[in-house]
Amino acid sequence: MQKIVDFEKCSGCHACFNVCPQDCISMKPDEEGFLYPEIDNEKCIDCGMCQKVCPALTEYKGNPRGRAYAGINKDDETRENSSSGGVFSLIAEHILSQGGIVFGAAFDEDLSVCHIEINCTDDLHKLRGSKYLQSRIGNTYKKVKMHLDLGKTVLFSGTPCQISGLITFLGKDYENLVLQDIICHGVPSPFVWSEYLKFRGNQTGGKAEKASFRDKSYGWKRYFVKLDFAGGRKYMKPFDKDLFMRAFLNNLCLRPSCYVCHSKSVERQSDITLADFWGVENICPELFDNKGTSLVLVNSSKGQTLFDEVKERMDYRKVDFDKAIKNNSSICISAKLPPKRDEFMLALKNKPFDKAVKACVPQRKLRRAMSFAKRILKKVTGK
Ligand SMILES: Cc1cc2nc3c(=O)[nH]c(=O)nc-3n(C[C@H](O)[C@H](O)[C@H](O)COP(=O)(O)OP(=O)(O)OC[C@H]3O[C@@H](n4cnc5c(N)ncnc54)[C@H](O)[C@@H]3O)c2cc1C
Repeated sequence: MQKIVDFEKCSGCHACFNVCPQDCISMKPDEEGFLYPEIDNEKCIDCGMCQKVCPALTEYKGNPRGRAYAGINKDDETRENSSSGGVFSLIAEHILSQGGIVFGAAFDEDLSVCHIEINCTDDLHKLRGSKYLQSRIGNTYKKVKMHLDLGKTVLFSGTPCQISGLITFLGKDYENLVLQDIICHGVPSPFVWSEYLKFRGNQTGGKAEKASFRDKSYGWKRYFVKLDFAGGRKYMKPFDKDLFMRAFLNNLCLRPSCYVCHSKSVERQSDITLADFWGVENICPELFDNKGTSLVLVNSSKGQTLFDEVKERMDYRKVDFDKAIKNNSSICISAKLPPKRDEFMLALKNKPFDKAVKACVPQRKLRRAMSFAKRILKKVTGK
C-alpha cells in the first residue's frame, strides 16, 4: 500500500481525497475511528497530486499576526445557542444575506459530525455550536471550488488543519473566499464519541437524538454537556464532571496528529479566527456577563472588511493581542500526549466507558495531592 504521509502527521484533512484525478483514494477509519487515506494501487497513476496538496508536506505560511477583539453578538438568543459569543453566526448571516454559501460542521442523524453547505439562514442552526469531534470533510473542498468558480461568495469554517487542507487543495487565492477557523484544542475520535453515546443510551434506556457540548443554561464558564433522548428524557452534566469531556480535555482521545499539529501559529492562514475569550473578565470586564464572549482575531484585510461590516451587530472592544491569547495556549501549542492515551483507547474496547475514563484520567484528589507535595518539596529544597 502506498503512503502519502506518515500516519502521525496526517490530520485527515481530505485534501488528497478531493484532488485525486482518478478517484482512487478513499478515507477509511482506523481502529480509533479516525479517517485516513487509502490508495487503490490498481487505479493510481502516480501523478503525485495527493502529496502535492498534503498540508503536512507543505511549508506552513500564515498571515502576519493580526488584530484581536472581544465580541458579543447583540442577539441574545443566537448567543445563547452558540458556544462563545455567537460571532460565527454574524459572519455567516452576512455572507448568506449576499447570496453566498456557508460551509461548516453539523450533526447528522446518528450524531456523528460532517461538513455541510447551507445557503439560507433557516439552516444556520445546524452549524451553530462546537461539536467536539473530528468532522468528516467528504467532498466539500470540491464543492467549495465549484461555487468559487461560479463566482459565488463562500465562507468556509473549520479547524486550522481543514483550512490548511482547503488552501493547498485550491492552490490559488480566491477573492470571493472567506476562511474562518477556530483556536483548536484538538479533535476527539468519532469512535470514542459513539462509545460514549452507547454508554449513555444504555444508562438512560434509549437513543440520544440531540446533543450539545456547550449548553450555557448555567453559564458559559461552567458549561454543560446535554443529551436529549427519545421520549423526552435528558442527560445534563457540567463539562468537568462529564466523562466524554474529561477524556477530551485530558487529551486521551485526540487524533495522533493533534499532538504534533502542523497548523499551530499566531500567524493564521484564515481571514478570521474565533475562540472562547477565556479570561475576558480580567481584560475587558465590561464584555463579561458569563453568557459567552468570543475572541475574534482578524488576520487579513479581507477579514477586517468583514469584521467592519458586521461590527454594528456586536458589542466589541479592540484588545491587546498577547493578553487576549494568554489563556488560550492552544493557538500555538499542540496538546500534550498523556502517557495513558493508548491504554484508554484500548480500554474502551473491553471496559465500560466510565471504567475506562476512571482508569486513565488523573484523579483530581491525586493531582491535588501531587501538586501540594511538589510545592512542599520546592519550599524545603528551594528547587
Ligand atoms: C474541536 C474544537 C476544539 C476547539 N478548541 C478550542 C480551544 O482550545 N480554545 C478556544 O477558545 N476555542 C476552541 N474551540 C472553538 C470554540 O468552541 C467556538 O467554536 C468558537 O469560539 C466559535 O464560537 P461562536 O460562538 O462564535 O460560534 P459557534 O456557533 O459556537 O461556532 C460554530 C462554528 O464552529 C464550527 N465547528 C463546530 N464544530 C466543529 C468541528 N467539529 N470541526 C470544525 N468546525 C467546527 C462550525 O462549523 C461553526 O463554524 C474549539 C472548537 C472545536 C470544534
